[in-house]
Amino acid sequence: MSVVKLSNSKVFSCSREQTLLEAARAQGLLLEHGCRTGRCGICKARVISGATSVLIDEASLDQEDLSNNMILTCCRTAVTDVELDIEDLSELAGYSVKTLPCRIDALQMLSSNVIEVTLRLPPGNFLQYLPGQYIDIIKGSLRRSYSIANAPQGDGKIIMQIRKVADGEMSRYWFEEAKVNDLLRLEGALGTFFLRKTNASELIFLATGTGIAPINAMLQQLASEVSLNTYSAIHVYWGGRHESDIYFPLDFSMLDINFVPVLSRSASSTVANGYVQDVVIAAGIDLRKSIVYACGSEKMIESAREKFIASGLEPRNFRSDAFVSSN
Ligand SMILES: Cc1cc2nc3c(=O)[nH]c(=O)nc-3n(C[C@H](O)[C@H](O)[C@H](O)COP(=O)(O)OP(=O)(O)OC[C@H]3O[C@@H](n4cnc5c(N)ncnc54)[C@H](O)[C@@H]3O)c2cc1C
Repeated sequence: MSVVKLSNSKVFSCSREQTLLEAARAQGLLLEHGCRTGRCGICKARVISGATSVLIDEASLDQEDLSNNMILTCCRTAVTDVELDIEDLSELAGYSVKTLPCRIDALQMLSSNVIEVTLRLPPGNFLQYLPGQYIDIIKGSLRRSYSIANAPQGDGKIIMQIRKVADGEMSRYWFEEAKVNDLLRLEGALGTFFLRKTNASELIFLATGTGIAPINAMLQQLASEVSLNTYSAIHVYWGGRHESDIYFPLDFSMLDINFVPVLSRSASSTVANGYVQDVVIAAGIDLRKSIVYACGSEKMIESAREKFIASGLEPRNFRSDAFVSSN
């Protein structure tokens, strides 16, 4: 067992079979993370001292990261005692990750390639989560991640918005076989994409495709917890290729929102055209005073991060969840 120390002096032990992220979680410390497969890069951390080794390929690290002693905590284990230049997240202290049985409560097509799946848990069970987090759905040997599209509600139901991926194994199930009352398992809640306390005055949500799902949950939270809404403006930029990709009527009755649908492959004169990140820059919002939550394709997230930081956004004010493939 090695001892791992964080920059806020908290410590946990890690065996050679565990990733640093898993070991921390097992001991009640939550580290920043996203996909847990090395692809999204959210769990990147700098090693101050000690030796680590790779358990899962660190696909999202580049040569510069490696030469700066960066590692992914979802991919590496500790070989000696290690000191990391990151802190744990106190917001989620006490939120345990559970594996629970669940049944499909309702299925509804939202467009030709997006289905809404509502899950219910057995009586007496509930899932504790923060709006923006995701769950893994387990069906036999298949496991896929899906964001929760609703803030916690009284009936404990969990709603997901799922896009059909061509030749996708789980897509085949959702779009061709799934029936109301099917029994599945879920693991969650996972991920660290949730609203943070900040001094920023403008709140910008950026989504492509079903990336709007966790943003919808966060908007519901902002509408119901008035004290969270400390912003002078809330913007929602939702990008798709065609009009049919803006498949979901967001309910803003409780919030004053600047909603901008953006189409990349359709020259409409009534909505913005181009890529969401470029439309935000063109809008002239002061990114130095903003916090951004971006969810959807990896490509959009990488491009948005780079462009927004170059335009003055503080790097820690760019929060993201990339819908990377699980295989
Ligand atoms: C944290 C997280 C949250 C997610 N939340 C959602 C969500 O709320 N809604 C949602 O629709 N999806 C979401 N995803 C993506 C989802 O987990 C699956 O990857 C996706 O549904 C495809 O699964 P599949 O079994 O149908 O396809 P697979 O059998 O896994 O893949 C089939 C083929 O498609 C490619 N592929 C798989 N996924 C993608 C992708 N996302 N983009 C491009 N190519 C892909 C694969 O590389 C493969 O070639 C999320 C992913 C992560 C990591």
